[in-house]
Amino acid sequence: MQIQNIIDGHSIDPIDNRWIDVFEPANGKFYATLANSNEADVNKAVEAAESAFEEWSNFTIAKRSEILMNIAHAIESQLDSLAAAESKDNGKPLSLAAKVDIPRAADNFRFFAHAITQFASESHESIGLKTINYTLRHPIGIVGCISPWNLPLYLFTWKIAPALAAGNCVIAKPSEITPMTAFLLGKICLESGLPKGVLNILNGLGSSVGQAIVSHPKIKAISFTGGTQTGAQIAATAAPKFKKLSLELGGKNPNLIFEDCDYDKMLNTTLRSSFSNQGQICLCGSRIFVERSIYNKFKTDFVNAVKSLNVGHPSDPQTDIGALVSDSHLQKVKRYIDMAPSEGGKILCGGDIKIISGFEEGYYLNPCVIEIDNNACRLNQEEIFGPVVTLMPFDSEKEALDLANSVSYGLSASVWTNNLNRSMRLSEKLESGIVWVNTWMQRDLRTPFGGTKDSGVGREGGFEALRFFTEPKNICINYSD
Ligand code: NAD
Repeated sequence: MQIQNIIDGHSIDPIDNRWIDVFEPANGKFYATLANSNEADVNKAVEAAESAFEEWSNFTIAKRSEILMNIAHAIESQLDSLAAAESKDNGKPLSLAAKVDIPRAADNFRFFAHAITQFASESHESIGLKTINYTLRHPIGIVGCISPWNLPLYLFTWKIAPALAAGNCVIAKPSEITPMTAFLLGKICLESGLPKGVLNILNGLGSSVGQAIVSHPKIKAISFTGGTQTGAQIAATAAPKFKKLSLELGGKNPNLIFEDCDYDKMLNTTLRSSFSNQGQICLCGSRIFVERSIYNKFKTDFVNAVKSLNVGHPSDPQTDIGALVSDSHLQKVKRYIDMAPSEGGKILCGGDIKIISGFEEGYYLNPCVIEIDNNACRLNQEEIFGPVVTLMPFDSEKEALDLANSVSYGLSASVWTNNLNRSMRLSEKLESGIVWVNTWMQRDLRTPFGGTKDSGVGREGGFEALRFFTEPKNICINYSD
């Protein structure tokens, strides 16, 4: 299997004919080659996007919306094959890909197909001065969308759908580790009536093709989701060129559990927020802080629940936890687990490599819970991004808040309490872009999504995304005689 680039409506080989190997996490075997593109391929894609822009940006809103809706339907009609491809490429349970990733990719297109029909610009009447201002919101032109491997199609479409809805042409790059469903989506878009050149998908390494997208002078905005260090590098390249930037970066999210919460609901949800997608979701609650009065009970119940999770082949319907995405990521996660003793941590369960019979070379790890005694340790300060959580007790609301905020990240936080005033106080003071109270990862696509501190710059979602992907221009008319 060869995963090529999609440029100007055609699947084509990279200009230099260089390729990268792609591996299947469930068995560690090579299964596809991927275009290893570079600056020359980016130039070619930009030429295609430039020629397509005039026509696409002048399509009526109704027509653009109709095409995005066609894409949503096509994704849904191919749900089974897309879910299978996602699971094979990423190692996530097939059931999760079929229930969450692929439906959400369709939802992203459906949502922005609707949102663009409701998106309006402002007008300001300067009363007494016989002046009216109105704002035009035109597409930016050519925009770059770069996405990570953890929710491949889900996050790829989260960027592309609003960029296209707003009338831009897109140069998009999925992660080189999980490129499969983006390639399939490229074909779906063409079959759904998206004109050629409007969406160009380039494959390859971040350091070559990714960097070339960010540097290209005709790509005027970059929407990036990925690691904090990569985000800093992208910002350093893009800022002197005055590009618009949206950066959705890493997280180290706190989960604050108070004695007065709905215990069973909290326990079930905390299991999910810790280990869904092998703990490889930027929103996973990786630091669990529990009020001391229920700490021992929680510790026992949680560890027992974690031990009952099934680690297995992604296609097995009984599997709760599939394979990690790559061997190098597995090794990185393992290094953090191994540092537990020297960081003051005690492993309560898991953290060892799991061998699945018949798939011995797959990247499996038993989910790991580590009890720690100080929030300053590396396990609580650095993003591990795997099936690993830490537990620590707290004695007061103030201490819980200090622990939650004492970290460089600020993506999301969860609060478990039935005390309304406490939930309001904490929601106000938690330093994060998103706070969940008595829930986790419930998403309404109209809400602003993103992080503060080292977790990012800007917000996506709803009209925030459409504002990002448009350039406002104010027109001021004086109509006095
Ligand atoms: P990564 O930063 O290594 O890569 C992300 C993408 O950027 C890939 O497509 C990669 O090829 C590309 N890239 C790498 N270097 C580049 C460069 N110099 N210029 C341009 N592009 C470059 O991240 P990852 O390992 O794929 O994903 C995991 C990270 O993503 C975690 O830190 C996670 O928290 C974060 N994440 C954040 C969110 C969010 O919404 N905030 C969502 C999902 C994942």
